[in-house]
Amino acid sequence: MPCNPRYEILFEPVRIGPVTAPNRFYQVPHASGMTNALPRVRAAFREAKAEGGWGVICTGACSIDPSSDDAPLPFATMWDGNDIRAHALMTEAVHRHGALAGVELWHGGASVMNRTSRLPPLSPSGIPWMATHVGFMGNLRPKTMDKADIRGVLRCQADAARKARTAGFDIVYVYAGMGYLGYEFLLPEYNHRSDRYGGSIENRVRFVREMIEITKDAVGKDCGVALRVSLEELRGRPGRNQPSEAHELVELLADVPDLFDVKMDSSPTDCSASRFTGEGSHEPVIDFVKSLTKKPVVGVGRFTSPDTMVSQIRRGVLDFIGGARPSIADPFLPAKIREGREAEIRECIGCNICISSWHDGVPVRCTQNPTAGEEWRRGWHPERVGRTDKPERILIVGGGPAGLECALTLGRRGHEVMLADSSRTFGGRLTFEKTLPGLSAWNRVVDYRLGRLNEMSNVSLYPESPLGADEIIELSPDRVVLATGARWTDMLYSSLEIPVGRLDHPDVLTPDDIAGGRLPKGPALVFDFDNYYMGGVLTEHLAAQGIPVSYVTPAGQASAWTIMTNELPLVHRALARRKVAVTTLHLLKAFDGETATLAHLFTGEEVRVACRSLVIVGLRLPRGELFQTLTERADGLAAAGIRGVDRIGDALAPGAIAHAVHSGHKLAREIGTDIRWQHYRRDTPIVDAVADFDMRTAAEYSNSRKSVRRSSFGIASNKEF
Ligand code: ADP
Ligand code: SF4
Repeated sequence: MPCNPRYEILFEPVRIGPVTAPNRFYQVPHASGMTNALPRVRAAFREAKAEGGWGVICTGACSIDPSSDDAPLPFATMWDGNDIRAHALMTEAVHRHGALAGVELWHGGASVMNRTSRLPPLSPSGIPWMATHVGFMGNLRPKTMDKADIRGVLRCQADAARKARTAGFDIVYVYAGMGYLGYEFLLPEYNHRSDRYGGSIENRVRFVREMIEITKDAVGKDCGVALRVSLEELRGRPGRNQPSEAHELVELLADVPDLFDVKMDSSPTDCSASRFTGEGSHEPVIDFVKSLTKKPVVGVGRFTSPDTMVSQIRRGVLDFIGGARPSIADPFLPAKIREGREAEIRECIGCNICISSWHDGVPVRCTQNPTAGEEWRRGWHPERVGRTDKPERILIVGGGPAGLECALTLGRRGHEVMLADSSRTFGGRLTFEKTLPGLSAWNRVVDYRLGRLNEMSNVSLYPESPLGADEIIELSPDRVVLATGARWTDMLYSSLEIPVGRLDHPDVLTPDDIAGGRLPKGPALVFDFDNYYMGGVLTEHLAAQGIPVSYVTPAGQASAWTIMTNELPLVHRALARRKVAVTTLHLLKAFDGETATLAHLFTGEEVRVACRSLVIVGLRLPRGELFQTLTERADGLAAAGIRGVDRIGDALAPGAIAHAVHSGHKLAREIGTDIRWQHYRRDTPIVDAVADFDMRTAAEYSNSRKSVRRSSFGIASNKEF
């Protein structure tokens, strides 16, 4: 199908200094958790997006010097020749599809702890970043940069920019956002300097200006030079001759970079979850930028709707549609718009499992796109699956995320698929969860898959079809896949994490009871040791229905794991707004229908809380009865010609929806092949020669009397000669 003429504006080329992007789809820098240690995994991950039509593909944060060391969080480096070769795999892959490759050169300043390099973190005035955060304590406090340190960082930036050009990058970044070094210079709370780098906004902007200028001097003839800057905080500060300091910054730098990449200041607002924030949420902060510069502007906002994208361009908010999460969830989003296939866009659901992967220090995972990060190591293409030459009749029992994904992928492979679910609607756990506060966008997992399944002639859908072993044997498919999900239990644990049995009382409920339509008597108490979203969102849900409810957890925070998905502060805010009392560090000991007994996790001191019902959000166990019965009836299965019974998703191992989708996809790829037990290809760093290392650091540059010379082993030494 042709592109809808309304959307053609999205496919116009746009110049960025000396280079030209083929269209307005710009994959902004985003963490992938892949680092230079997994160069082929990273190249293939980025290549998929270039193939899918993104006109610019960027790396994540790429350190310019060992004084910017974020370990144990994953980050890329541009320190030496090995790094150049590692990145070159990515630029070559991106160029194969006509896209531009951008590198987010980065110095973390005081926001990195230099745990590995053990160099003092650098900062404008020695003020620690996130000094109140546990992860930052016990580490080195930052050093105040002297003029030589500033010169050192500028030279590292220029060196890294030249290496980036050698690696084949077309766009080179200066990063002044998210608490990193450039940003720290911009804010007077971090910048107390009395020299030409501190004080007035002109002075505070100077370091960023010099970083851009030195980058342009180094590579500006060949590469576009982009400034990535966070504007949320500055937008809130009145300016002297402009409405805000953010306006003043853009005015001061209007002609300096070739591109403005504008964003918010902290992960929860910049990469905000759909539970709390809608599409295009950055606009009120960045809407003015284009009015003050003629240079192109890129911004993000979890854009998945082409109409929203076009509106951003036409209204003069952005020149490029920036995407990080939308490009992970659907690397082929631009191609689908260009080909008039908007209905096939696999829209990001805004769950932030992807960002949790970075916090976990592992390659990116995505709820919507099970192939993310698997392009090279498992050979999974986001849009294509190999067709089978031996089609089978495969019955899938259970139409939740796992069953739907498995059916879709098996159908695409050419199998004859029957998908049955006992419920009236497909969607499994999402049928209920999409009704919880803020979670409606999560149903895109179901909408995308059901939409495609309904178009496939080799897939039959059977709602309202509870299946037992007899029915399955009677249907006699070639194979059975059980995607029957999991159940929440009322199991409790001791303070030593030892299961202490079920809490048996008629007024003890689980999320499944509430999903089934039962409401707890008020006042209710939600006891959450699952610690992901369910306990918090269910509490909100009950409070919204007027049920007095309090929340208790043995963790230190409500919905503690949501720190990984950027949601935690907003979960607390939502509970506070609902006037929910939150008790942390307590275990549930007993309940008699009138009172719950809680015990402090560490002291054991007991408190009693009046409540008439309990909701336990804790352990989930697979719904395993059907699998058990089928394995006991092996003879019946064999007689019916059923070759195998597999389990996927929560029926195999309960977890987040992302894992269920991945599990369904994996089995569907592997059925009928001999790769069932083969895991994946292992990537290795590119190490050409250890002697190639260039050990110069910003700290060394800072001492102009010291010279850097290679030792007899070829390793640079910082001895004075
Ligand atoms: P997952 O996340 O692994 O996809 P869900 O719990 O979301 O798991 O979905 C499981 C689905 O399986 C539910 O929709 C449930 O109704 C369905 N189901 C469970 N047992 C049966 C059965 N015996 N016959 C048909 N459908 C079943
Ligand atoms: Fe979007 Fe969730 Fe995928 Fe991240 S993990 S890209 S938020 S669907």
